[in-house]
Amino acid sequence: MVSVKNIRKSFDDNVVLKDINLTVDKSEVVVIMGPSGSGKSTLLRCMTFLEEPDKGIVKLGENEVEAAVKPNKKRKSSIRQLRQNTGFVFQQFNLFPHRTALENVMEGPMIIKDMDRNKAKEKAMTLLDKVGLADKVDHYPAKLSGGQQQRVAIARALSMEPMVMLYDEPTSALDPELVREVLLVMKQLAKEGMTMIVVTHEMGFAKDVADRVIFMDEGVIVEEGSSDQMFNNPKEERTKRFLRDVS
Ligand code: ADP
Ligand code: MG
Repeated sequence: MVSVKNIRKSFDDNVVLKDINLTVDKSEVVVIMGPSGSGKSTLLRCMTFLEEPDKGIVKLGENEVEAAVKPNKKRKSSIRQLRQNTGFVFQQFNLFPHRTALENVMEGPMIIKDMDRNKAKEKAMTLLDKVGLADKVDHYPAKLSGGQQQRVAIARALSMEPMVMLYDEPTSALDPELVREVLLVMKQLAKEGMTMIVVTHEMGFAKDVADRVIFMDEGVIVEEGSSDQMFNNPKEERTKRFLRDVS
C-alpha cells in the first residue's frame, strides 16, 4: 500500500534521513520510535512531500512520486494526490480556531473534493460521532480539551477518506489524563482496518496495536520487529538503551 524507497534528506550538511526503506501493507499498523532528532517527523513529512527528499521514491497505491526531479504538471498532480490520500495528524492539533468542530471536519471534503454542504455535514457528523464527539459538534476548538481537539483533528483527517493515516506524536502535547481517549480512537480505527504509521512513545499502544515496531536513530532504521520482539528481546544496543531510557 505505502512504500518509501531510498529516501534521503539533508538540511545543509546535516543528513537527517539516510536511505530509508519502508513498506507498509494494507491494514498494517506500524509504530515508529526513536530519540528526539532521529528523523521521525522528517520521514513522515517526506512521505507527503511536505519536505522534498533529496532523493528516493514514495509510493501510495498506484501513485508513485520520485523526489528531486524537474517539476511538471503530472508531478504536481501526483503530489496533490499523495497528500489527499494521506491523513496527517500532528502533535499540535492545528484546527481552524474560528470554525466549530463540525466546520473543521466539513472543510476538506467541501473545498478539496467539492462535496455539497449537506453531504459534507452528514459525513462530518458521522465522523465526529465515531470519535465520541457527537455532543460537541458546535463547539469551537478553544472550548474543547486537548484530547477532544485531537479527536476532531483525527475526524478531519478521516473526512478525506485517506488510504493511510500518519500520526506524529499525537498524544505528546496532551495532559496525561487525556492521552487514553485519543489512543482508544486510534485503536478502534486500527481494528477497522485503517493502515497507519504512528510515531509515538506510548509503549502500551505499541504493544496492543502495532503489527510492527520500528526503531530509528540518527536517520536510519536501526531495528524492526513485532512489538513482542522489540520490547522483550531487542537485538541492537541502541534499541536497548532507548527502551531503558523511555520506560
Ligand atoms: P524527530 O521527529 O525524530 O525528533 P526530526 O525529523 O524533527 O526528528 O529532526 C531530525 C533532524 O533534522 C534534527 O537534527 C532536526 O534539527 C533537523 N531538522 C528538522 N527539520 C529541519 C528544518 N526544517 N531545517 C533544518 N533542520 C531540520
Ligand atoms: Mg518529531
